[in-house]
Amino acid sequence: MSSDFTTVIGKVFLVGAGPGDPGLITVRGAECLAQADLVLYDGLVNPILLRLTKGICERTARTRRDDAVIVTQAEINGRLISEAQAGRTVVRLKGGDPYIFGRGGEEAVALHEAGIPFEVIPGVTAATGAGEYAGFSFTHREISSAVAFVTGHEDPSRQESRLDYQALAAFPGTLVFYMGLSRLREICETLQGAGMQKSVPAAVVCQVSLPSQRVVEGTLETLPTLAAGQNLKPPSLIVIGECVRLRAQLSWFENLPLFGVSIGVTRPEEQAEDVAQQIVRMGGEPVLMPLIEVGPVDQHHQTEIARVVRQLDRFQWLVFTSVNGVAEFFRHLHDAKLDTRCLGKAQIAAIGPSTAEKLRAFGVIADVVPSEYRAEALAKSLQSRVRGKTMLWVRGSRGRDVLPQMLTDVGALFAQLVVYENRDIDKLTPEIERRLKAGTLDWIGLSSPSIARRFAQLLKTSGIAATELQTRIATISPVTSAAAAESGLIVSAEATVSTWNGILHAIERSRS
Ligand code: SAH
Repeated sequence: MSSDFTTVIGKVFLVGAGPGDPGLITVRGAECLAQADLVLYDGLVNPILLRLTKGICERTARTRRDDAVIVTQAEINGRLISEAQAGRTVVRLKGGDPYIFGRGGEEAVALHEAGIPFEVIPGVTAATGAGEYAGFSFTHREISSAVAFVTGHEDPSRQESRLDYQALAAFPGTLVFYMGLSRLREICETLQGAGMQKSVPAAVVCQVSLPSQRVVEGTLETLPTLAAGQNLKPPSLIVIGECVRLRAQLSWFENLPLFGVSIGVTRPEEQAEDVAQQIVRMGGEPVLMPLIEVGPVDQHHQTEIARVVRQLDRFQWLVFTSVNGVAEFFRHLHDAKLDTRCLGKAQIAAIGPSTAEKLRAFGVIADVVPSEYRAEALAKSLQSRVRGKTMLWVRGSRGRDVLPQMLTDVGALFAQLVVYENRDIDKLTPEIERRLKAGTLDWIGLSSPSIARRFAQLLKTSGIAATELQTRIATISPVTSAAAAESGLIVSAEATVSTWNGILHAIERSRS
């Protein structure tokens, strides 16, 4: 007799996250994250990848760390099984590749034995990450015909070591040791003892594909001493073989314009994504530290917006002074089931290139964008054209009154519509505070006068004197620099084009 009750079982995806650069996850891996109800990720995974999921995320770690839940492998396996049995889609996200020294094999066996459906998605393992990002080419045709991935976890001097160092020393190609940094000297000495030439090139590569990537090069003989004094941070690999010499020609990652530079992004979180991406692509480390939040307006303003968007054809000019203003304006428009057609014949002004770009995303091309990103310049470029004209300024709750003043002066009929609320963050996070105090944040980008003033205030609240700040400051425009200077901050770079990209290029210029 068949039962009407069928248990809906979930599924587990074992996914390789790649070695660090979030761009190195596979397309399939990203799809799995997008579908996950629960993500269990290990300590090697770059947490930025968690933005690809809406599921609950929990970190697992088998070693003791402050912020990690300590879980045994058996507990992890048990959890994967029980969550899938409860019908959930679970992603087990693992640094590098799930099966390369990753215990993914054990997890898959446990799932198989429990009858849980699973899929396994490969990842870029740390070694191949190092090959490309540090420039080794392990099997370059002229120098090596094999590559071996070896665990450096086992003590080579112990009798019961499962590794045959005689065979490794005679291996006709490149050796890559995982988990070996603490045994670097023993590994190099044991290989020499087993007959490998002491002049064979060797390197330690730490934090592959991250802005903190570091490489120390030497030979089997010199590497342990060279690496010892360098305060190298795990995770790291040891690469041994002639291919280490290719680095001189093949390395590219470390030459990116912002390689190794950490940059505080003060934009509201919702708009930080593209800036963060751009910093990563330039080799730097984005550090998200929003100082202002963008929130919805109150009921009173909502009613006002609903009323005004139905009468947009009354206005001959619409003026936008922020990316947020554009995004929120169109959100309200769409909420009211309206689209760009209701803008009628209105002319459009945008304060700067980013605002204009956002308008373009909604299919609207700005008629006026001043060459300088500031309210005065915008007002000037409008003054000769708006006498007697009806204008609507779409804005946030906070802003200067330069526009209404300068434009009503020339006879414009000026109205305003607040479409979003700017709210201050009242404290720097402990992590940002720590990095500012320790000098481990290289730059901060300030993208408006109010953000500059806010940052100065937050520094005071945290008890950090602006004059002692080791973090350098880059601003988006002269007005922002002036506001920063008035608040006691020292500005080290200023954008020539008033966008976040401009800030990044200003930082790049000031490094060379
Ligand atoms: N499954 C992972 C390896 C896990 S074992 C993979 O395929 O890469 C952990 C070891 O991997 C570390 O001890 C280190 O040797 C290496 N490793 C992982 N990520 C690394 C990185 N970004 N840089 C250098 N080594 C890394």
